[in-house]
Amino acid sequence: MARLVIIGCGVVGAAIAYELSRTTPHTITVLEQHTPAEGATGAALGIAMGVISHKVKGRNWRLRETSLRRYPTLLAELAALGQLVPNNAQGILSLCFDAEKLPRWQSLQEIRQRQGWQLEIWSPAQVAAACPHLIVDQVAAGIYSPQDLQIAPTALTQSLITAAQQQGVELQTDAAVVGFEREGDRLRSVQTAIHTYPADGVIITAGLGSERLADRLGHALPLMPVLGQGLRVQMPEVLGDASFQPVINGDDVHLVPMGDRVYGVAATVEFPPEGERSPLPQQAALDAVWQAALAYCPALKSGQILSTWYGLRPRPQGQAAPVIQPIEGIRNGILATGHYRNGVLLAPATALKVQELLQTCLDSDSPIPPRRQGA
Ligand SMILES: Cc1cc2nc3c(=O)[nH]c(=O)nc-3n(C[C@H](O)[C@H](O)[C@H](O)COP(=O)(O)OP(=O)(O)OC[C@H]3O[C@@H](n4cnc5c(N)ncnc54)[C@H](O)[C@@H]3O)c2cc1C
Repeated sequence: MARLVIIGCGVVGAAIAYELSRTTPHTITVLEQHTPAEGATGAALGIAMGVISHKVKGRNWRLRETSLRRYPTLLAELAALGQLVPNNAQGILSLCFDAEKLPRWQSLQEIRQRQGWQLEIWSPAQVAAACPHLIVDQVAAGIYSPQDLQIAPTALTQSLITAAQQQGVELQTDAAVVGFEREGDRLRSVQTAIHTYPADGVIITAGLGSERLADRLGHALPLMPVLGQGLRVQMPEVLGDASFQPVINGDDVHLVPMGDRVYGVAATVEFPPEGERSPLPQQAALDAVWQAALAYCPALKSGQILSTWYGLRPRPQGQAAPVIQPIEGIRNGILATGHYRNGVLLAPATALKVQELLQTCLDSDSPIPPRRQGA
């Protein structure tokens, strides 16, 4: 039995803690600098864009498909443990405003059919019939993905970590990791300001905080914070048909039913200005998102804006998102981070991948992960 330390309790850390507590005999401690889901996860919409994404092969599709297959069983397991996670299984309806993009959607539809997934292409009249709150004048087609879903990210994270705790995982909050004790190519312990946690295996799932932690271990992992803002809107009545409330996507602006006539409208994608480390929320960007939503759903005008929010997405620089790999030069350390815009979607698949990597990691005869040149 090994002692594992997971650093960071966003949706990714919580999913890993849960999966490992379910399938391995190891002693697991999760160290979180604040409380669970306060990082990017707390700002996420929780849309799982799997079937409707244009990724059709390679690692990125495999991860998406693994998550799509795992989510129903995961939510059922959590429910059986008393953790009901709010989720919307009515799918995603994406509005296509450009007829020239239709052949690409048709080709995606054929690929998904071959892969065993459903994707429907609706006429503007079908869109209007199913979702009477949407204006379809400018719509060339509606792409409806019934098997994609949306999950409440904070509730999911809290449920995962609670279920993991029920299965023996220890969660330490207000426990910021500041360093590591290392012996050659092995990590021996993880250090906070007041405690040292002995470790046979370490998993860094600290979102944007992973850059600094990896840096301490000599692994260069540049992560760019990409800001996303959104608005919560309270409507006087449910938008459209109360019995059909899918997530709507129009030009990357999402309208997400959150229950009780509240809708999320999001999100901006704001990069740091040239030469700066971190972006600040720009009102003009939020206004543009609001106007784009009003253009396809003018009924929103009669709603009351309850609040706005923003968060920072961890985007890897110089490598594809997400980063799920051994820490360079370390036998018993794994990075599971940099999920950028898809951490909620990819959390279950990430947990399964980490479980696989861990087996090699804990095996002392395994080859040491190579150090990149210049790292
Ligand atoms: C506006 C917005 C909308 C989004 N919408 C979606 C969506 O619809 N679907 C989707 O899939 N994704 C979405 N995302 C992306 C998603 O939020 C992220 O990919 C995901 O939350 C990353 O999860 P994480 O657990 O890796 O990181 P985080 O949630 O940031 O968690 C990392 C945790 O590590 C902790 N930590 C950091 N450093 C340390 C340290 N030294 N010691 C201890 N703890 C530490 C932090 O406190 C934090 O709790 C959205 C993001 C934003 C901002």
